[in-house]
Amino acid sequence: MITRYSEARLPTSHGEFRVVVYRTGQPGGADATAVGLAHEEHVAMVLGDVAGEGVLTRVHSSCFTGEVLGSLRCDCRAQLDAALARIGAEGRGVLVYLVQEGRGIGLGNKVRAYQLQDAGHDTVEANLALGFDADHRSYDLAAGILRDLAVASVRLMTNNPKKIAGLESAGVVVSAHESHWVGETSHSEGYLAAKRTKLGHLA
Ligand SMILES: [Zn+2]
Repeated sequence: MITRYSEARLPTSHGEFRVVVYRTGQPGGADATAVGLAHEEHVAMVLGDVAGEGVLTRVHSSCFTGEVLGSLRCDCRAQLDAALARIGAEGRGVLVYLVQEGRGIGLGNKVRAYQLQDAGHDTVEANLALGFDADHRSYDLAAGILRDLAVASVRLMTNNPKKIAGLESAGVVVSAHESHWVGETSHSEGYLAAKRTKLGHLA
């Protein structure tokens, strides 16, 4: 379903990672990404020797509005930075970066959902109003990438119990769960509250 396409060393402010690019073999499609890829591509940021047990791991979905445009409607950029910093501090770990917007609904629909949220819907109601449900395909992609990297078990950085369950059902061994709380702003508190009450997030 997903194959390793290319890799290179990638020095960052959190250490010298190895960036590994995977392709699904599928065209990018209208829902895939904000950057107009011909093929659907996903990324692993790898630090140290990750073949083995108890690898500090984050599974992160891309967020063009938060990570590139600096939106404060969500905490994706802070979560991404915090995960890379923790992996850098430990000297070993993997960040799986899935190139997909808005939990898989695409950038255009994510912005439509923002419009609905400004009209009074929460993040879950807005996605449902647009006809979208939760995304399970991303867990299979992440599991495929972790398998390719020979990661035997993960210490998962997440506040989302459904992510743990989803990865486990996709075949990932989650040996521990580490909370991944980065705080909230006045712009993101409603969104984060809805993730707690409607999606079961712990923080
Ligand atoms: Zn975001």
